[in-house]
Amino acid sequence: MEDKVNGLLIPEPEGELWYSCIECDFSTPLDRFLYACPRCGGLLRIEDKNFDRLLQVSPQVWREVFDRRRFLRIDALKGAFTFYELVLPVIPLEDIIYLGEGRTPIVRANEELSLLVGVPFFLKYEGLNPSLSFKDRGMVVAVSFINHLLKKDPQRKVLGICASTGDTSAAAALYLSYLPKDRVISAVLLPEGKVTEGQLGQVLGAGAVVIEIPGVFDDCMRIVEELSAKYEVCLLNSKNPLRIQGQKTYAFEVAQQLGWDTRGLVVVVPIGNAGNVTAIMEGFLDLKNLSLIEELPTILGVQSEHANPIVKWRKTGVYEPVKVRPSVAQAAMIGKPVSFPKVKRLVEEHYGEKFKAVEVSEEEIMEGMLLANRYGHVVCTQGGEAIAGLRRAIREGIIDREGKVFVVNSTSHQLKFLNFQQMYFQDAFPPEYGIRTEESLKNRPIKLPPDSSRIAEFLGLRRKNEA
Ligand SMILES: *Cc1c(COP(=O)(O)O)cnc(C)c1O
Ligand SMILES: [Zn+2]
Repeated sequence: MEDKVNGLLIPEPEGELWYSCIECDFSTPLDRFLYACPRCGGLLRIEDKNFDRLLQVSPQVWREVFDRRRFLRIDALKGAFTFYELVLPVIPLEDIIYLGEGRTPIVRANEELSLLVGVPFFLKYEGLNPSLSFKDRGMVVAVSFINHLLKKDPQRKVLGICASTGDTSAAAALYLSYLPKDRVISAVLLPEGKVTEGQLGQVLGAGAVVIEIPGVFDDCMRIVEELSAKYEVCLLNSKNPLRIQGQKTYAFEVAQQLGWDTRGLVVVVPIGNAGNVTAIMEGFLDLKNLSLIEELPTILGVQSEHANPIVKWRKTGVYEPVKVRPSVAQAAMIGKPVSFPKVKRLVEEHYGEKFKAVEVSEEEIMEGMLLANRYGHVVCTQGGEAIAGLRRAIREGIIDREGKVFVVNSTSHQLKFLNFQQMYFQDAFPPEYGIRTEESLKNRPIKLPPDSSRIAEFLGLRRKNEA
C-alpha cells in the first residue's frame, strides 16, 4: 500500500479528457475551449475516456493519496488540484495556478443557532476563498487551462469574458490578472446596479474591463453566449464545463473532511445559475463511481421566492424560466439557470428523491444571514438563504432529521453583501423585497463624546472597589 500511495502522490498527465454533449452523441477531445455542442447546441460535460485506470487503484489508496497531498510542499497540489485525477489530469503541474483556493473549513454551527434552525448543522465557509466565494474553485481550473494553452502556443492571446451577478467576475478578474498582461485581457459584463459595491470594487481593482448594461443577469448571459458563439473569446461562466470540473472539489472536500463517510449526509446549497449544484452532484457521483464513498448524499437546493425556477420544476414537474424579482440573495437572482438540463439529468439518472428543493422568502433570507452572524459565523445573503432553507425543510418535514449530518454551503463572505445588512438596519428596503424588519436584529453605532465617564455611564459599568 505504501508503495502504491507514494507512486501516485505526485501525478502526471494521463487522463483522456473529452467534451461530450449531454443531449446527443457528439464528443471531441479537450484541446481548446468549447461551450456548447456544435451539433445540437446542448450543454457539454467533461468525460475522462481513461477513467477506468483510476478503478485499478483501491479506494483506500486513493483516500490516502488525497489525504496526504495536503502535507506536500507542492503549490500545484494544495488547492483544487489536490484532486488532480478528478479535475483536469491533462495539464502538467507547472501549468497549474494556485492562489490559495479550496480547503475551506467546515465549522460546527453555534448551539443556540442550531436550536433556532431546528437541527444541529455545519457550515462550510466558501467565503474564505481568495476572491471570497466558491467561484474560485471553478475559475482556477479554467484559468489554469488557459495558462496551459498559452504555454503551448507562445503566439496566442486570450480575452476572457463572463457575465456575472458579481462573484464570477470577481473570481475571473482575480485569476486572469495573474497571467501575463500582454497576452491576456479580462472583461466582465455586469447588470448595472445589481452587483454590490464590494464585488464591483474587486473587479475594478484587478484591472478588468468592466461593461455595465441595463437589465439583469439573464440579459448579460444571453450576450456573452452570443459573443462566445460568434467571436474568439474565452467564456468563463459555468456553462464552460471546466468551471464545473473545479467546483466538484467542494464535494470532494466535504467527503474528505467527514472522513469519507457520507452516510446520512445532507448538503444544503443555494441555487442560481445551477452550476454549483451540478458540480456538487457530479462530484459526489465521481466519488461513488470510485467507491470512495458508499452513498450519495441528499442535496437540498434552496431558492428565493423571487427567483425560483428549480423549486417550481420540482413541485410541478414542469420547467419554465421565471422573471426574477429583486432579491437580497442577489448572486442567485437568476430566472433561467443555464445548467438546468444538467440538473434534470443528474436527478433523473442518479439522485431521484435525494434531490430536494425548497423556497424561502426574502425576509427569511435576511434573518438567516443576520442570525448566523450574531452567533459567531460569517455568512452572506446566499448563506443566509441556505440556512433559511434548512430551517424550512426541517419545519415542513421535507427532510427527516434523524441520523442525518447537515452541511450548509456558505457560498461567499459576509462583507461582499454588507449593503443588504445596511438596508436592513436602516429599514431601507424598497417594497418589492417584501421585507419587514425586526428591531432585535438591527444594530448601529452610538455616538458619544471622548470621555471615559460618559462611556462608562452609557455602558452601565460598576466602579471597581478600591482597596
Ligand atoms: C454564484 C453564486 C451562487 C449561485 O451559484 P450557481 O452556480 O449560480 O447556482 C450562490 N452564492 C454565491 C455567493 C454565488 O456567488
Ligand atoms: Zn449535441
